[in-house]
Amino acid sequence: MIQSVLRGIDTIALLPTGGGKSICFQVPGVILGGVTIVVSPLISLMQDQVSALAKRGIGAFSMVGIVDPAVFEHVLSKAKNEPFFFLYLAPERLSSRQFGRVLKECTISQLAVDEAHCISSWGHDFRPSYRQIALLRPALPGVPVTAVTATATPRTIRDIYKNLRMKAPTVVHGSFDRPNISFSVLNRVDARSSVLALLSGVPGPAIVYETSREGVEVWTEKLKRAGISAVGYHAGMEAPVRERAQSVWMRKKVRVIVATNAFGMGIDRPDVRLVVHVGIPGSMEAYYQEAGRAGRDGKPSEAYLIVTPDATHARKALLNSRSARRRFEFMRRYADRRMCRRWAIMGYFGEEKAEKCGECDVCTGAH
Ligand SMILES: [Zn+2]
Repeated sequence: MIQSVLRGIDTIALLPTGGGKSICFQVPGVILGGVTIVVSPLISLMQDQVSALAKRGIGAFSMVGIVDPAVFEHVLSKAKNEPFFFLYLAPERLSSRQFGRVLKECTISQLAVDEAHCISSWGHDFRPSYRQIALLRPALPGVPVTAVTATATPRTIRDIYKNLRMKAPTVVHGSFDRPNISFSVLNRVDARSSVLALLSGVPGPAIVYETSREGVEVWTEKLKRAGISAVGYHAGMEAPVRERAQSVWMRKKVRVIVATNAFGMGIDRPDVRLVVHVGIPGSMEAYYQEAGRAGRDGKPSEAYLIVTPDATHARKALLNSRSARRRFEFMRRYADRRMCRRWAIMGYFGEEKAEKCGECDVCTGAH
């Protein structure tokens, strides 16, 4: 894959979460020299990568908002004079005057697009501003584009290809399997006792995903009343409250974070042992990405999807587009189907598994 970038070929790298995605553009960036532009959707993601590069003595900067003019001149001079440099920015900043100067004055050797699935309206993380990235291409003739993502459905790949105006890209496909996570589905009328049973059966840090903000509040209270330390997180909370919730959980002050899908991108706590979804998530991509926050350290971990008829009805009523309904319908069938969960998930991402997992609810005949 790195060879492909070095030869100036557009490349799409599909690698599972935690699979060292940033290496795909950082290594070529260092070898190619000059400036690698990295478009990224989240400030926290950019800042993590910039500080990781800085620790290795590699020049990097994230352009967040309008950069103070003196700081900007300093960064610009580093980008021009250092043998290699990584400049991170959100897609909204691509049309800024400061970035215009970067384009004019620096030698740009690579355009990297992190979380490239954000360019696809098919996915759950669609960012319209990602579409603007293609507008840069005429200004950067001959500069290869490296797109990395952990979402690998054929449709998403087609969108990345098309919307980044790639020409015959190399597509590199890492395995999406997460062998240390076992996946199970529980069909229940009452989710409460199941969540409590799972939390007492699987010790260690946990994430409980709820589909609604009210659900987050209700579940946080339920867990606390059952004597489990828990904190809630959803987009309706004030930013400082939300940040505090995330921080106490990251610092291991509480065991469980109860959250909507607003929680997660850029979260890298390695020792999560259990991820429980109460209610069916909007798509397999969303489910696998969220459940995949378990076991980043490679140790055995569990992912449970609890399906209740009430939550399914409520969720269905909220789906307002055909594609949203289709994605949801696929998840509902996944939950209903009596097929090894790992087979079903891997099949969705286009991978065939020869062996059944032997540990999911279907394989073990449990529940
Ligand atoms: Zn199985």
